[in-house]
Parts: sequence; structure tokens; C-alpha cells
Amino acid sequence: MLNLIFFGPPGVGKGTQASKAAKHYNLIHVSTGDILREEIRLETELGIKVKDVIASGELVPDKYLIELLENTCEKHKGAQGFVFDGFPRTLRQAEALEEMMERTNCKVAKVISLEVPAEELVRRLVNRAIEQGRTDDTADVIKNRLVVYQKHTEPLIDFYKKRDVFVVIPGEGTIDDIFAAICNEIDNRY
Ligand code: AMP
Repeated sequence: MLNLIFFGPPGVGKGTQASKAAKHYNLIHVSTGDILREEIRLETELGIKVKDVIASGELVPDKYLIELLENTCEKHKGAQGFVFDGFPRTLRQAEALEEMMERTNCKVAKVISLEVPAEELVRRLVNRAIEQGRTDDTADVIKNRLVVYQKHTEPLIDFYKKRDVFVVIPGEGTIDDIFAAICNEIDNRY
């Protein structure tokens, strides 16, 4: 099994690269943001519960994410592996993922951390909000999402560095060049 995590702040390009990696390595792409937005669209019980939290740029409580993780992995039991995109975002989620991996004798092979300068991030988020009509991405919410990222998600860098799986890939350049750097990292070191 090949399990990868795409890590980095909102707007860094995780979704694009995670989706390419899932196709290339034949893995299941798990974007928790996409799953949650779909729940909202379908007006499910979970969707109704998380709608306001997502609109504010805050994180959805861990218990929902952990449940969502377990359901998704259960649904794709025979998969060759997973590409996690936007998950984990808190230490508690990272621990839950690790426990789940241990139960099934698997591990996270790599955490691919995409990095771009802060001004570039804001520029990308504003453009994305305009292009995709993402109502969760207004200027104040964008700022809040970056603050939430620093507070809750950045501590995961140490968590994964300790496990020796953390790699940094510069997130500027063409989509294909960035993807080539990611594949190089996975193919040569895995
Ligand atoms: P994303 O599309 O990954 O930027 O996610 C959009 C929003 O969904 C986030 O701002 C959070 O409110 C929520 N969300 C997605 N993934 C998670 C997660 N792993 N933990 C908590 N909230 C999440």
C-alpha cells in the first residue's frame, strides 16, 4: 500500500497535485474539503451541522473528520493506497490516522509539504474564490483560514518530521514541473 499526505496551507495547490498523484499511482484521492462540501450540497445531517463552521473558515470538529476517515477507508478496503488532501489538519486527526494505519498494518509513506510565499497564497485564494465561486473564500475568511492553519495544522510538521516522512516541495512553477518533483521524491525514496 502507498499512502501519501498532501500537506500545506490553503491555496498552496494541494488539491491539484493530490488529484494528479492519485491518478498516476492509482490511489484513492481523499479530499476532506470536497467530501464536506458534497455533504453540504446534499443537505445531509453532517452537511447541515458543518455548513456554518466551513463558511467561517474554522475547522470542523475532529470527531466528524475521524468518522469520515473511517467510513472512507472502509468503503475502499481493497485500495492500493490513499492520497490524503486536507487531512489531517490537527494533531488529534494525525493520531487517529496513525492508529488506523497501525490497525491495518500500514503506514504513511510520505507527507508532501507544498510551500509558497504568503503573499502568493492570498493571491491564489482570492483568484480561486472568484473563479470557482467558493463562498467559503471571502477576504476575511481567507485570513482566518490561514490563521487557523498556523495554529492547528502547522504543529503537524514536527509530528511527521519525527517519523521521518516529511518532505518539502516548492509549490511555485508549472503544475507539471511541481508534479515531476513530487514523483521524483516518491519514486526515488519509497
Ligand atoms: P479545504 O477545501 O481542504 O480547504 O477545506 C475547506 C473547509 O472544510 C476547511 O476550511 C474546514 O472548515 C473544513 N475541513 C476540511 N478538511 C478538514 C479537516 N481535516 N479538519 C477540519 N476541518 C476540515
